[in-house]
This record gives sequence, structure tokens and C-alpha cells, in this order.
Amino acid sequence: MSTEPRILWAAGRDASWYSHPNATSPKKVHVVAEDACGSLCGLPVLDPDHRRLLEDVPEVNRCRRDGCRQIWPAAGPSSS
Ligand SMILES: [Zn+2]
Repeated sequence: MSTEPRILWAAGRDASWYSHPNATSPKKVHVVAEDACGSLCGLPVLDPDHRRLLEDVPEVNRCRRDGCRQIWPAAGPSSS
């Protein structure tokens, strides 16, 4: 893990960009650093108004691209 504390959020892309947003499939959610303007996997456009805690993102919605993939909290059995 990184030695510097970074504030990380989960955020999805703004679907209003698309002329035909796909509302049926799960939207991919990416990891965004507080001090950056793009996702850790390199996407420049994310929706900061809908950011949430990493732990709140269902595993099916998590971005699997290199950069985001390594950040998600382990999905194993929750402690306590
Ligand atoms: Zn991503």
C-alpha cells in the first residue's frame, strides 16, 4: 500500500454524457483520489457529486481496470 495517506472515493462516470445511456447494466464505479481529477485507472471524466465510500460499492459495480482494481477493499468475510 501507499505510504502517503490519500483520501479515496468511489465515483461513477456521468451517464448524461451519452446520448443513449444504458440504464439496465450495472454502472461501473471507479476509484478517485481526493487530490486528482480523474480515476486511478485513467478516466478523466467522473461525477464528483455522486462519490461515495469505497466500501459501499457492490463488487459487481467495481471497476476492474488496472489502477482501480488494486484499491477496492478486500471482499472477504467482514470482521466482526
Ligand atoms: Zn476505474
